[in-house]
Amino acid sequence: KEIEETIDKETVTLDGKRIYLHVNVGGRLDITQVNKKKPDGIGLLRTELIYMDAKEFPDEEKQRKIYDNIAKEFGPDKPIIIRTLDIGADKKLSYYKMADEENPSLGCRGMRLTLSDKKLFKNQVKGILRAAKDHDIKMMYPMITNLDEIKEAEEFLKICKEELKDDGLEYKDDIEIGMMVEVPSAVMLADVFIEHVDFFSIGTNDLTQYILATDRFSPIAEKLYDCYDPAIIRARNIVADAAKKKGKKVSVCGEMAGEEQAVVAMLSMGIENLSMAPAFIPKVRNLIRKIKILELKEIHEQILKAENASYIKEILNEYLIKIEKRRKNLWKRQKWR
Ligand code: PEP
Ligand code: MG
Repeated sequence: KEIEETIDKETVTLDGKRIYLHVNVGGRLDITQVNKKKPDGIGLLRTELIYMDAKEFPDEEKQRKIYDNIAKEFGPDKPIIIRTLDIGADKKLSYYKMADEENPSLGCRGMRLTLSDKKLFKNQVKGILRAAKDHDIKMMYPMITNLDEIKEAEEFLKICKEELKDDGLEYKDDIEIGMMVEVPSAVMLADVFIEHVDFFSIGTNDLTQYILATDRFSPIAEKLYDCYDPAIIRARNIVADAAKKKGKKVSVCGEMAGEEQAVVAMLSMGIENLSMAPAFIPKVRNLIRKIKILELKEIHEQILKAENASYIKEILNEYLIKIEKRRKNLWKRQKWR
């Protein structure tokens, strides 16, 4: 009941910090249902699901229409981050033959694949650029590993814009470009990458598997795959710091963004944008409205010093218990007044 009651309220902490809650969405989405959760925008549009639903590669015009429709349905003035095609590893297309690799998760996936097939990539980039003309659409690259990829993408973007211009088609020239931080090298070079992009989005699903060398889908290695591992906590902090230092936006779009303990950790790092599955939005909004940013300074220091995941979870849990007690006391006082 309490969660339902806060659905229309602003996502703001007890001491007045506005936090932005976005949704992760795939191809088959019921936007009416998504909008009922009152998200601030789409933080991750996984376009591979659009491709997976098709029988062949959707051409430029088809893609423009799909993105334009999503933006129209979603509503005006809501930012949408479109992630370029991230196939490979677990995501395959029936109509596209990918190379057989021993380790597909470490192989030609995401941006590696699209940069190696520019014809395929061009249709998507141009479709996004054209749809962005009328909407607050940003473009984001997955699986960025080194700066050469970003530079190649910059050059390629220029070519796409020139071609659209030559064809007399309208597009958004100053589209914001972001990158997923989901490969360890991107964490280590976060201060370098941030000079070349407008925003970061931390993909904790892949970042956890690559930092901990643990397959995200392996039931055997499940115990090792822990997003609260101190290495992952510190990695997120490095990325958040690099973005904040340059006054750029950073968000978290991995599944953990919807977990209560993780929300406390992310807010303690100064991360103000979270993107999650729609179902988690109301619960997270309700939680944020009970948090005081000023109280998180100590938690931030503690989790960065912690040596294992269970201690980190304990610290975060303690805070959750503390704010729950505060809520109950407040409720009792209101009741007896
Ligand atoms: C991630 O890796 O955290 C992410 C959001 O991307 P995906 O789950 O689509 O790989
Ligand atoms: Mg990923």
